[in-house]
Amino acid sequence: MAKDFSRAFYSSADWERARDAALTRDAHLCQHCLQQGEITPAVMVHHIIELTPANISDPSIATDPSNLVSLCDRCHKKVHGWIRQGATRKGLAFDSDGNLIALGD
Ligand SMILES: [Zn+2]
Ligand SMILES: [Zn+2]
Repeated sequence: MAKDFSRAFYSSADWERARDAALTRDAHLCQHCLQQGEITPAVMVHHIIELTPANISDPSIATDPSNLVSLCDRCHKKVHGWIRQGATRKGLAFDSDGNLIALGD
C-alpha cells in the first residue's frame, strides 16, 4: 500500500532496480513460505525496516538488499499485521486496499 510520501520513490528507477535485484536474489519466491518449506511465488518486495518519510531517502534502508525481502501476498499481510486485526477470528482479513476479505485456505 503506497503512502503519499513513498509514491515517487516506488516509481523511481532506483527502486525498480532494487526490487528486481531482490526478486532475482530470492528466485521470485516468497521467503517466508520458503522458511516453512513451501514454494510460493513472490508478488512484492517488502522493506524489513519500514519506510518512513525520515528514512526513504537513505539508500541503506530504501534500496539496500539486506532490508528487502520477497514475499507473497499472504505473508506480506501477515508481516504488516493486517491479519491480526479484529475480524480475523471469523476468518476474515483486510486486503491492501483495506477491504474485508475472507481467508481461503
Ligand atoms: Zn508467503
Ligand atoms: Zn511491506
